[in-house]
Amino acid sequence: MYCHAVLTVLSDDAPLGDAVAFLSKEDDTTVLLSNDTGSLGEVIWKKDALNPEDARYVISSYFKSRTFYFFYGLSRNELKMEKKYKRFFVHPFHFNFFLIVPWAFINVIDSVLFHLRYRQYCPTCKWKYAGKGEHDPRECAYNREYTLVINAILTGIIARIEPTFHSQAMAEIKRGQRSAYLELCTHRKYEKALDIASVCLSGGLMLYLLLAFVLPMLADFFMF
Ligand SMILES: [Zn+2]
Repeated sequence: MYCHAVLTVLSDDAPLGDAVAFLSKEDDTTVLLSNDTGSLGEVIWKKDALNPEDARYVISSYFKSRTFYFFYGLSRNELKMEKKYKRFFVHPFHFNFFLIVPWAFINVIDSVLFHLRYRQYCPTCKWKYAGKGEHDPRECAYNREYTLVINAILTGIIARIEPTFHSQAMAEIKRGQRSAYLELCTHRKYEKALDIASVCLSGGLMLYLLLAFVLPMLADFFMF
């Protein structure tokens, strides 16, 4: 029923607690789940492959957040995964960028900076990372936790494993470390406000362009 990436990790004789125990070990080099998006994309229904857009939709639905801020964060982390760059832009350009013009600018600038910064690859977490030298162990653990959470959602085992994620996250926070699970669950109040501000700003810009350029052009055309 589940894709093979999960079955290799969560066999019945392997306690779920053990499956995420690595999250608290900074020096653990074990990667429990594959970063292979081919297997990540398999869902429990009909084993259809989820494209990245659908996967983002499933993840955002699970965490009950449909803000562009949240989607952008998912896209950014998705681009960090694997050694190879899957695309240039952090968030794929769609028609809806006309409605969120400020995000379009952020996307362009951030994409350029992203490619300049994220040039190292860590074989442990299988993510790209910025800076020189070895991958920071805390960031590495965060990445592996993130991958594990995303895999669990896309393969449908999150319902079984979530209590373990939760208790593990509490332990991480107590130790003063970041928890990918907790950050995905936490939605800041300004996320929705940013979306509204973006749409209002974009609407104002479109109206300005219409009044300043399009209407005068039409008027000239019909006068002629
Ligand atoms: Zn790493």
